[in-house]
Amino acid sequence: MHKKLTFPIIVCMLIATISVRAQISEVKRVEPSSWWIGMKNPTVQLLIHEKDIGKTRPQTDYPGIKIERTTVVENLDYLFIDLKIDKNSSPGIVEINFLKNENIRHKALLNLKKREEGSAKREGFNQSDAIYLIMPDRFANANPDNDMIPGMLEEPDMSEPYGRHGGDLQGIMENLDFIEEMGFTSIWLNPVLENDQPEASYHGYAITDFYQVDRRLGTNKEYKKLVDECRERGIKMIMDMVFNHCGSKHWWMDNLPTEDWIFQYPEFTRTNYRLSTVSDPYASQADLDLTTKGWFDTTMPDMNLKNDLVLNYFTQKSIWWIEYAGLQGIRMDTYPYPDKDAMAEWVKRVKYEYPNFTIVGESWISDASKLAYWQKDFPNRDGYNSYLKNLMDFPLAEALGSAFNESEGWGRGVERLYDVLADDHLYRYPDHLVVFAENHDLGRIAHFYDGDIKKVKMAIAFLGTIRGIPQWYYGSEIMMGGDGGESHAAIRQTYPGGWPGDEINAFTKEGRTEEQNKVFDYLSAVLNYRKSSEVLHTGDLLHFLPENETYVYFRYNEKEAVMVMMNNSEKRENKIELSRFAEILNDYKGGKEIVSGKIFETLNYITIPAKSAYIIELTK
Ligand code: CA
Repeated sequence: MHKKLTFPIIVCMLIATISVRAQISEVKRVEPSSWWIGMKNPTVQLLIHEKDIGKTRPQTDYPGIKIERTTVVENLDYLFIDLKIDKNSSPGIVEINFLKNENIRHKALLNLKKREEGSAKREGFNQSDAIYLIMPDRFANANPDNDMIPGMLEEPDMSEPYGRHGGDLQGIMENLDFIEEMGFTSIWLNPVLENDQPEASYHGYAITDFYQVDRRLGTNKEYKKLVDECRERGIKMIMDMVFNHCGSKHWWMDNLPTEDWIFQYPEFTRTNYRLSTVSDPYASQADLDLTTKGWFDTTMPDMNLKNDLVLNYFTQKSIWWIEYAGLQGIRMDTYPYPDKDAMAEWVKRVKYEYPNFTIVGESWISDASKLAYWQKDFPNRDGYNSYLKNLMDFPLAEALGSAFNESEGWGRGVERLYDVLADDHLYRYPDHLVVFAENHDLGRIAHFYDGDIKKVKMAIAFLGTIRGIPQWYYGSEIMMGGDGGESHAAIRQTYPGGWPGDEINAFTKEGRTEEQNKVFDYLSAVLNYRKSSEVLHTGDLLHFLPENETYVYFRYNEKEAVMVMMNNSEKRENKIELSRFAEILNDYKGGKEIVSGKIFETLNYITIPAKSAYIIELTK
């Protein structure tokens, strides 16, 4: 028996030896798989994933590329290579060979590219912009062919509120006229990267591949095309990124590079969501650890950004997307949850490459005193500086959620808005806050205001004219309702007209009801006016204590001023004596209401109807 097998065994061994020499397999994964010549930081760190790659030695003879450092980690299926890219090197495919016993075992390929001209100087979104937030799975399904991708874990199911509904990037692309018509100049999409999770993967916050757009939304190329198309229309793209956690089905979860790549526990340990522990000088270490190291959800393992390899990975992936897709902004999810020093370091590194780029942190904190801790240059007692100028103004959003529902009273009604703004002494950069009434987590504005379009219009007037950068949530222009506190699915509806066979198409004027058109038209009028109004972008703010349920404030600079009046009374028309505002009005003779076109010949008094706002451009 043994003798009979001798000959075939020898043949097999010979074939095996020859094939090892002839076949040099590509590594399973290299991230990033492309990079650019001429970045300010010339070094890129590649993550290489391949069985036993840690036992090999990398080598390349590509001109201008030097392997500066190799980091072997406890899991030998990973290797981290720092490549220094000479600014005079030429674009091309860099081949890195991995040797063992002087034999080449594997190769990795890096696509070395030339940067687009002006890339480093790109302008981020700012006070001149208005942001439209879209949940891509729920906006428009222009490509039903990508609803189901064979091999991906979750199939489409429109009957399941937390299921995938099939919306895609093509759907957004085809409705850019609609977005532009309303006067928006920036789009923030909830995360578009792969979420190959078995259920509830539609929202995008459990990412399973940081370098790949979810194929049910589209391809990387389609994303880039969408950004290009937006840029041609003067619309900036803000990418929603998540560093705090990955998806539980992320490819690395089965075989982590290091033990401390994520925070691991013997049993599921949830964050306490109490962000005050980070800024509270008296917080216990135990509470702080749970805030920053507990998992956000069962499907969201907590990343350890204290590990430099992890921080490098996320820093590079954000730079990669800025450079690859041509982004103008990042919205950072759960900003205060990861290690705060690592996050500050990340902001610094991105701003080092792109000084005019904008990052806004999701900082779900209701008190200005606690929120201010997270804004750049705040004189924190512990010396912490986030280097982050733009934050989401949650205190203002919460005030806006009830201000127009309440009658007069101490700290109630429009006084809520006045009081939140009075806290601006806390911020170094109040103009850099993003102001909003709603998003994909809160209830919708039509829900807060119980479908009352008068109140919704007042909120639009306020957001369009107050300091900061206004943000709106898709669907609220057609008065979509929904209580986010009750269910997230309730506020993530599909847009009527976005799906083949929809009976109503609210993307068109004809498809909207008369009431919907009133809100749509009012929003469009305010935002389109705002677009070219410098004083609303960068002017100072002056406000007067609300009286008789009426709030009056001004945006002004040396050349011009806009007066905003809000009568919050349920039934009473208010005749406002303007002499009280003499300190600013003395320079002006009349004005024009920007939506109705109503002219005010004199500035003695103005009568404003109940539950309404006037935005008056003052004339000299
Ligand atoms: Ca689709």
